[in-house]
Amino acid sequence: MNILRKLEYMKNGLDLSIIIPLYNEQDSILSLHKKIKHAMSKLKMSCEIVFVDDGSTDRSLERLKALQRKDKSIRIIVLRKNFGQSAAINAGFSNAKGNVLIVIDADLQNDPEDIPRLLAKMDEGYDVVSGWRDKRQDPLSKTVPSRISNWLHRKLTGLDIHDSGCSLKAYKKESVNDLELYGEMHRYIPALIAIRGFKIGEIKVKHNKREYGKSKYGIDRLLKGFLDLLYIRFLMKYGSRPLHFFGLLGLFQIILGVLIGVVKVWDLYRKYLNTGQFVQFGPLLLFSGFLIIIGILFVIFGFLAELTIRIYYSRSQTKGYIIREILQ
Ligand code: UDP
Ligand code: MG
Repeated sequence: MNILRKLEYMKNGLDLSIIIPLYNEQDSILSLHKKIKHAMSKLKMSCEIVFVDDGSTDRSLERLKALQRKDKSIRIIVLRKNFGQSAAINAGFSNAKGNVLIVIDADLQNDPEDIPRLLAKMDEGYDVVSGWRDKRQDPLSKTVPSRISNWLHRKLTGLDIHDSGCSLKAYKKESVNDLELYGEMHRYIPALIAIRGFKIGEIKVKHNKREYGKSKYGIDRLLKGFLDLLYIRFLMKYGSRPLHFFGLLGLFQIILGVLIGVVKVWDLYRKYLNTGQFVQFGPLLLFSGFLIIIGILFVIFGFLAELTIRIYYSRSQTKGYIIREILQ
C-alpha cells in the first residue's frame, strides 16, 4: 500500500481540500463519500471535503447535510442557483483551506483511488497534475468531440496535455489564486494556469460509466469549446498586449488598402492620359477604401483593448507577473 506523507509543499495548515462541484447528483453522494474516505485513509494528511452544491433541485443538499452531521471534515458551499461547473469550482477554490486542492466530479466517473497518485506526481515537482481519462467510458457523442477538442487544444496552447477536460486534478493552492473561472472555462484550467508560469503534469486515471443521473452537457459543447479555445490562444499570445494583435491586423489592412488604391489610381491616371477621359471608379478602389477604414477601426479598437487591460490590471489583484520566491 502506498502511504503518502505530506508533500514538501504542505508546510503549515490543512494539507488537502477535496472540492466536489455537484448539480443534481443525489444518488452518488453516499458512495462517493465512502470512496473518498477510503482513499484518504491511505494518506498521512489532514483533509477537508468541500461539496459545492451548484443549485441542485433534487435531494442532493438534504443528503449532504445528513452526511455532514456524521463527518465533521465536510463543508458545504451552497450556491444560490445553478451557476455552472466553472463557477462552482471557482467557489470551491476561493473557500478551500488546504495547501493542495483536488477537484473531482460528483458522479463517480472519476475514482478517488487516483488521488494519492496525483499527489505522488505533484511531489515530482509539478504545480498542477491533471488526470487523463485514457480509457474513457462515455458515449461516442462525447469521446469524439473531446478528442478533436484535445487535439486542437494541444496545437493551439502548445501544452502537452491529453485530456484538459478531465475534472480530476490536483492544484497547489498558489496556482489558482486570483484565477478567474467563469463560463465554461473549467475545461481549460491547465492552460489558464500555464499562462501564469506554473508547471503542469499529467497522469492516466481511471474512468467509469455514469451510473446515476444525467450528464449536464451535450454535443453543442464542441463549437462553444472551440470559441473558448480561440480565446485562450488569444490570451496566451496577446493577453497583456492586445494592441499588438488588433494594431498589426489594422496596419496590415491599411497598407494593403493603400497599395491597392495607389495601383488603381495610377491605372486610372494612365487611362486618363491616353484617352483624355475620366474612367469611372471600379469596385477595387472601393475595396481599398474599405480596407483602409476597417484598418483604422482595428487600430482604434487595439487602443481601446489596451486601455481595458490597463484598467483590469489596476483594479484587480492581478499583476503582470507572479513571483515564485525571493532569495536574499
Ligand atoms: N456540475 C455542476 N454544475 C453544472 C453542471 C455540472 O456542478 O452546471 C457538476 C456535475 O454535478 C458533476 C461535474 O460537474 O459533478 C461534471 O458534470 P458532468 O458529469 O455532467 O460532465 P461530463 O462528465 O458529462 O463531462
Ligand atoms: Mg460526468
